[in-house]
Amino acid sequence: MLSTMQDGQLSLAHLLRHGTSVHADSEVVTWTGSESRRRSYAEVGTRAARLANALRGLGVTGDQRVGTFMWNNAEHLEAYLAIPAMGAVLHTLNIRLFPEQLVFVANHAADHVVLVDGSLVPLLAKQLPQMSTVRHVVVANGDAGTLEAPDGVQVHSYEELLAAAPDTFEWPELDERSAAAMCYTSGTTGDPKGVVYSHRSIWLHSMQVCMSDGMRLSEADTSLAIVPMFHAMSWGLPYAALMAGASMVMPDRFLQPGPIAEILAAEKPTMAAAVPTIWQGLLQHLEANPQDISHLREVVVGGSAAPPSMMHAFEENYDVPVLHAWGMTETSPLGSVARPPAAAAGDEAWAYRYTQGRFPASVRARLIGDSGEEMPWDGESVGELEVQGPWIAGAYYSGQEGVDPDPEKFHDGWLRTGDVGKITSDGFLTLTDRAKDVIKSGGEWISSVDLENHVMAHPAVAEAAVIGVPDEKWDERPLVAVVLREGGSVTPAELREFLADKVAKWQLPENWTFVDEVPKTSVGKFDKKRLRGAHAEGKLD
Ligand code: ADP
Repeated sequence: MLSTMQDGQLSLAHLLRHGTSVHADSEVVTWTGSESRRRSYAEVGTRAARLANALRGLGVTGDQRVGTFMWNNAEHLEAYLAIPAMGAVLHTLNIRLFPEQLVFVANHAADHVVLVDGSLVPLLAKQLPQMSTVRHVVVANGDAGTLEAPDGVQVHSYEELLAAAPDTFEWPELDERSAAAMCYTSGTTGDPKGVVYSHRSIWLHSMQVCMSDGMRLSEADTSLAIVPMFHAMSWGLPYAALMAGASMVMPDRFLQPGPIAEILAAEKPTMAAAVPTIWQGLLQHLEANPQDISHLREVVVGGSAAPPSMMHAFEENYDVPVLHAWGMTETSPLGSVARPPAAAAGDEAWAYRYTQGRFPASVRARLIGDSGEEMPWDGESVGELEVQGPWIAGAYYSGQEGVDPDPEKFHDGWLRTGDVGKITSDGFLTLTDRAKDVIKSGGEWISSVDLENHVMAHPAVAEAAVIGVPDEKWDERPLVAVVLREGGSVTPAELREFLADKVAKWQLPENWTFVDEVPKTSVGKFDKKRLRGAHAEGKLD
């Protein structure tokens, strides 16, 4: 029997209409270094309509891909709305990709237009001649005259295009299953892989971001999305903000701890989201330059494991709870969120909060053991995490309007996450490692994340990254790369002593190295591949 319900499409054209009219007065605020540029959602809606008209004029008439090479700012939000809502596909380009990867993804996605921030023109200009499908480059927040375009590519000014375009657009009725946006994984092995989100997947994911057991985004919020709009769609915050009517603060290119502290002081956001390295940096800055940040009702940490010491520092020193969440580009990205059950209090609640979190109803999960068997959810059995759901990728983009069912990453309709961990009977996930980062010592596994969390709890330590290094006797042993806090001092022997009552004796690392900084990936995570490379070249001893 069919239902009697209407079949309304969950399209971003509706989301745009809703957010920019019902929440016309909510704002997007872009930090410019010393003050803010403010734009109401109503203005964003009008400008998105102008942008859609302008893009039509540049030949975007169907599902062409429009790349963005931009910071988090109001113009990027306009692109986030206009491009999918007009039926085209938003392709967020990671501005920190290696040049050959950037060229690869632009060609693979067949970007027709690229919107670029003025400050990033020199970076794009170098690769533009190899981007064979790009016909138009639109420069926002800068001088279009500075870009010397290769033959066959026209350069435009964003503001001039918008000024010349009508301020209304007939947003089309879209099939909710059609492509809305795409994002390439950073490709730690092999070429980057394209994940294509649908209107429906983004809509459902946005609802989850707003839910009480998600990020609780509501009209009362001002959210500071530090996580870049090219990193897994800024974890869904821009679309969720439009849905809920939450205002947004955008840090633009001011991502160092000092400017972030200034943004916090000036705009007093109620929530903020970033990878752990950003929050560690801010904590260090605040130690030297104390400031009240209790306007933050919560900060969200994901992308890598949140060190418990960091969570405690935020809560105990600044009265700001840290919410730990897990996800991937392939999972839109919200996969699990660590809100403890209401009945848990004190240490029990903390233990839940350290985990990667609980799966929401739309994310189905299973653990697969070494020989392919499904492992129980008993909080102890370990396996590779696989997930399924309406905002989880089922394949990669093949480049020819088709899909790439990469058997390494997908099987039986499940996404293989490459993450290893355990799940409790009440659905809380604890990740011990990425499969490729696990350290195998004498036939036993050592969790690099566990060691890192313990070392980072030492007061002299700012950052610690642990990799497995070859060992004749044990196959592999952990090597800890430590960054000291300013003025901090500690020896390997003291650190071993500090760990002695925290990890099993056989796990205690004997290899330590002190470094000025841990190399970071293009989205700010510890880059263990580069650390392993540096070790192999003898540069870490
Ligand atoms: P990249 O592969 O460049 O890091 P993603 O951002 O898609 O790109 O990374 C997803 C991966 O990040 C996950 O598979 C997992 O290994 C790691 N990750 C994300 N969130 C967490 C978390 N809360 N704790 C531990 N690891 C996490």
